[in-house]
Amino acid sequence: MNQIYDVVVIGAGMSGLAATIRSLMFNKSVLLLEMHSVAGGLNSYYKRGSREFDVGLHALTNYAHPKNQNKNKNKNQNQNKNALLKVLRQLRIPFEKMQLEQQKSSMIDFHYDGCTLTFSNEIELLISEIGARFPREIDNFIKLLEEINSYADDDLYRPYISAKARVAEFISDPLLVEMIFTPLLLYGSSWENDIDYSQFVIMFRSIYLEGFSKPKGGVRTIINLLLSRLKDECACSNKDDKDVLQFNKRVVELKIDRDTKDKEWKIKLQSGEVFKSKIVISTIGYQETLHLLDNKSKNVVGKLSFTESILILDRDVNYQHPKHQDTSIIFYNNNSNKKFSYQRPTDVAVDKNSAVICFPNNFGTSSERVERAESTESMVRFSMLANYDFWSNYSQKDYSMEKEKLLEETKILLDKIIQSDNQDKYKILVHDIFTPKTIYKYSGHLAGSVYGAEIKLKDGKLLPYENLYIAGTDQGFLGIVGSLLSGITIANFYVLKEQE
Ligand SMILES: Cc1cc2nc3c(=O)[nH]c(=O)nc-3n(C[C@H](O)[C@H](O)[C@H](O)COP(=O)(O)OP(=O)(O)OC[C@H]3O[C@@H](n4cnc5c(N)ncnc54)[C@H](O)[C@@H]3O)c2cc1C
Repeated sequence: MNQIYDVVVIGAGMSGLAATIRSLMFNKSVLLLEMHSVAGGLNSYYKRGSREFDVGLHALTNYAHPKNQNKNKNKNQNQNKNALLKVLRQLRIPFEKMQLEQQKSSMIDFHYDGCTLTFSNEIELLISEIGARFPREIDNFIKLLEEINSYADDDLYRPYISAKARVAEFISDPLLVEMIFTPLLLYGSSWENDIDYSQFVIMFRSIYLEGFSKPKGGVRTIINLLLSRLKDECACSNKDDKDVLQFNKRVVELKIDRDTKDKEWKIKLQSGEVFKSKIVISTIGYQETLHLLDNKSKNVVGKLSFTESILILDRDVNYQHPKHQDTSIIFYNNNSNKKFSYQRPTDVAVDKNSAVICFPNNFGTSSERVERAESTESMVRFSMLANYDFWSNYSQKDYSMEKEKLLEETKILLDKIIQSDNQDKYKILVHDIFTPKTIYKYSGHLAGSVYGAEIKLKDGKLLPYENLYIAGTDQGFLGIVGSLLSGITIANFYVLKEQE
């Protein structure tokens, strides 16, 4: 194989697919290598019998309808920079094709303290909830909102600032601070119990000011749209998409060929096959890429991982529930002392004191939700903070036993949340549980890390290496929308620039 590609992209998750499509749009010769037989990475899907499961997707952040962009400008001055719309524009995916269904509302539930805050895709609801529960803090919260609206998040080289410390300058009630932080940490912090202030602002805007939605067909809708765009771009330049996106190709080594004038990269696969490229974009993670380079200079393995328990129930448990019939996601915390512990549990395999509980059926218009509720089945998903070491060290027997125990705990939590009575108890038709060990197996992320390293390579450069860039979670944009944006940004910056 003598071809020298313009770009080799490693990993066909969201960021790798986006980087590849953009590079193809610049007429570059691109090769996308994926170690598995399907695309999507942390956000893929699978089938159990006749049922289809999403691996990662609870919800997309950054909801914005293009029609509302101007209307909403005053609420969020950064609305015109909405990341989801930018991603769709750059990848030339029509908004309608995403078939997004909005959340009705979500809830932060500090069970131990008996305090809840409900929020939706309209910030007014959260403002009124805070006004009702924390009347002394409402003016402070409005000031925080103003600060977030005016914050410029385009300085890549800003040093880390503790968001908890910064927010405490506005809000004095520690319970409110913890409650505001809970969804933002759970959906995108690679730091334990805190988050960088720039990242906090991005997450705040994408969750509280823009909000949640979900494509009708789940993550398949997104992946199929991306694959179809990749195919179209290949067709435009007479390429076969099967040559561009190659599955079952695990990269095991990256080496720079210093003998060549342009210092080409040699990308070696597990099979022994070698490809050459001028630019490499790696989406597999910071530490994982250092391993390919055999570089032992750093230890930047991300700490935060989760278990995910998925239950299919024989009925819609929310439908007639007085408190939760409109709830799409619950950010549940039962720690005492008005605290939410966002860290890798140290002495247990799973921290059962907190969870993200997602009801995927509860997105969309009221009539769609009623229609779904009347069809028999519903799904509930639980993400809980977990420790990779426990799960990877269990014997096979203990591993299965611990998963069974987790299932029992999950049922108890579900009963607590929906206050199910035994008279008319739901039945679990199917369940599945995956652990940090599963996340490692299917994504290659060391320690099953979901949010990557604490150090983010915001300009994508993995110095001192030239023409090697990191895209995805470790570049600093998190979640599905963030990863897509990251792939686009890195391709625009380094592949397009190359062309000029
Ligand atoms: C349980 C769970 C729930 C989540 N829920 C949400 C949610 O509701 N909303 C949201 O926005 N985000 C969610 N996320 C996060 C989201 O999935 C990720 O942020 C995003 O998918 C990361 O995309 P990526 O492209 O950066 O990386 P990845 O998805 O990790 O892609 C990397 C790809 O590289 C491949 N790869 C790895 N090593 C190699 C190698 N050596 N050679 C070749 N290929 C390789 C992997 O197989 C993978 O396909 C969730 C994640 C999890 C795990």
